[in-house]
Amino acid sequence: MKKRLNLFTVFRDVWRVAPVKFFWEYFFTAVDGIALALTAVALEKLFAAVLLFAEGKIFVWDVLRAVLVLLLLYLASEAGSGIASYLGETYSGLTVQKMRKRIHEKQGRFHTIDFEEPEFLNEMQRACAGAWQQRAFANIIMDILTLYLPYFLIYGVYLYRRKPVLALAIPLIFLPKLLAQVIKSRMYLDLEEKTAPLARKEEAYASYAAERDYVKETRLLNTVDIFIERWRGVRSRHDQLILKVQKRAYFAEIAALLLHLAGYAGVIGILLVSVFKGDIAVSAFAAVFASLSALIEQMDELIGERFGELAENYAGIKNYRAFMERETAPQEGGELEEYREINLKKVCFSYPGGEDVLKDIDLTINERTRLAVVGENGSGKTTLARLILGLYIPTEGEVCYNGISTARLCYGKLQKQASAVFQNFRKYKMTLCENIDIAADEPAAQMGVEEALNQAGITLSKEVFPEHLNTMLAKEFGGVDLSGGQWQRIAIARGIYKKSGLIVLDEPTAAIDPMQEYELYQTFLNVAKEKIAVIVTHRLGLAKACDKIIVMQEGRILDAGCHEELLARCEYYKRLWDVQAAGYVTAYN
Ligand code: ADP
Repeated sequence: MKKRLNLFTVFRDVWRVAPVKFFWEYFFTAVDGIALALTAVALEKLFAAVLLFAEGKIFVWDVLRAVLVLLLLYLASEAGSGIASYLGETYSGLTVQKMRKRIHEKQGRFHTIDFEEPEFLNEMQRACAGAWQQRAFANIIMDILTLYLPYFLIYGVYLYRRKPVLALAIPLIFLPKLLAQVIKSRMYLDLEEKTAPLARKEEAYASYAAERDYVKETRLLNTVDIFIERWRGVRSRHDQLILKVQKRAYFAEIAALLLHLAGYAGVIGILLVSVFKGDIAVSAFAAVFASLSALIEQMDELIGERFGELAENYAGIKNYRAFMERETAPQEGGELEEYREINLKKVCFSYPGGEDVLKDIDLTINERTRLAVVGENGSGKTTLARLILGLYIPTEGEVCYNGISTARLCYGKLQKQASAVFQNFRKYKMTLCENIDIAADEPAAQMGVEEALNQAGITLSKEVFPEHLNTMLAKEFGGVDLSGGQWQRIAIARGIYKKSGLIVLDEPTAAIDPMQEYELYQTFLNVAKEKIAVIVTHRLGLAKACDKIIVMQEGRILDAGCHEELLARCEYYKRLWDVQAAGYVTAYN
C-alpha cells in the first residue's frame, strides 16, 4: 500500500471533468496573482510620485495616474479571485459527482464476501472521503502554479532589483513553518488511520439510538442509554486521539512561529539599515514595507493552510487511489444464459478470518428442481444459498453451472439470470412500482409489475396504495408506511418479477402468518416450476412440497432426498418433522 502516487493521473482525472472551465478558473487565478504582485511596483511608483509632487517637480495628474494604475491592479486582483472562486465552486461539485460515481462502479465489481471484512469497509470509507480530495489537491497545485508562483516570482524579481539579500531572506523565514507543516501532516495521516474504525463504530451506535429503523426496538428494549453510553465511550477515545495529536501539532506550530518572528525582525532590520545607508530609496522602502504584510499573508496562507491541506489531501487521495487499484473480482469470462444444472464439488467455505462454516459439500441441482434446505440455525443454510447464487466463491472446491466452473465465468454477471429474496431484504424508500421494477432490466416473460404483486398476494387497494403503483413507500417522503408482512410480499414480488432461471428464497416470510405463508410458497413454487428453485426454510411442511430436501448440520449435508426417504432413514430429519408435525400437519395435508 506504500505505493507512490502518480500525480499525473490525479490531474488528468480532475481536469477531464470539465476542461474549459478548468482553463478559465486558472486563467483568472493567474490574473489575480500577477495583479497582486504588480501592486508593489505600482505602490513604489505612487510613493515616488507623491515625493516628487511634494517637491513641486511633477503635476497632480501624474500622481492621479499612479493612483489609477494601483486601483486598476487591485480591481483586477479582486475580480480575478472572485471569478476563479465561483468557477471553482461549480467545478468541485462536478468533480465530487464524477468521483463518487467511479467509486460506486468499483464497489460493484468486488466479491460480495469482501463486504464482510471490516478492513475493506474502512478502506471504502476512507476512499469516499479521499474522492473529493483529488479536486482539492489539484486545485492547490494549480493555485501554486498560477497564483502563488507568478506572485512570488514577480515580487522576488522586484525585491532582488532593490536589494538582493531581501529576495533570499524572505523565503528563508518561512522555512520553520514549512517544516512544522510537514510534521503535522504526518501526524494527521497517522491519526486518520487510527480513527477510521472508531468513526464507523460511532456511526453505528448513533444510528441504533436515534434512527427510525431502530428507534422502536431500542425504546422497547430500553437500550437507548446503552447505545448512547457506548457511543460516548468510542467518541471519547476518538477525541483523546485527536487531542493528543492536536497538542503535539500545537507545540510544533509555536516553535515554528518563534523562529519565523525572529526572521521577520531580521528582514525589517535589513530594510532599515539599507535606507540609512542609502542602498534603497525611501519610496522603495515604503513600498516594500507596505506590501510586506500582503506578502506575509500570502506566504502564511500558502504554507500554513495550503501546504497543510495539500498534505492532508495527499493522504486522502492515496486512500482513494489504493481503493481504486484494489483488485476486484475478475470481470472477464463467459456469461450464464440459463441454468440447466448446478454442481457443488467438495465445496468448503469460510468467512474472512474465520473457520470453515461449510465443509465438503457435494450437491447437484438439476433443472426444474425445487430444492429445500433445512437444518437448525447456524448450520450454514444461508451461506450455502449464497454459494449457489455465486455471491460467494468457495474457499475450496468449486461451483459449476451447466458444467462450467465459476472461475471461467464472469463474476460480475453471475447473478444476471438469478433472483433471490433474503431474510434481510431491503425496503426501498421509492414508489411501489420502483420497488419492483428496479429488480430487472428485463421483466420475467410477460409479467408486469401488477401481476408480480398479485402473485405475491398484494392487493392494490385505494386505502393502502392511494396512488396505485406510484404510491411512495415512505412516510417521510409524503407516502405511506407498510407493515412488515406487506414489505415481505413486496420483496417476494420483486424476486418473482425478475427474469431468472434460478430463484432463491431464504426465509423472507417471518412476518407472514403460517397459512398465508403456505399459500405464498405454493404460488412461488408454481412460478418457479420452470426454474431451479432453492428454498431455505424452517417449515418442513413446505419442504415436503419440494422435489428434493437437503438436511444441513454443522456446515455439512447430513442427508438428502425426498420427504419420505428422509423420514424413513434420517433420524435427525424425523425428529424435526415430529416436533413440527403436531402444529402444522393439518394445515399442510
Ligand atoms: P443458517 O442460515 O443455517 O442459520 P448461516 O449460513 O447464516 O446459517 O451461518 C453459518 C455459520 O456462518 C454460522 O456459524 C455463522 O455464525 C457464520 N456466519 C454467517 N454469516 C457470517 C459473516 N458475515 N461473517 C462471519 N461468520 C458468519
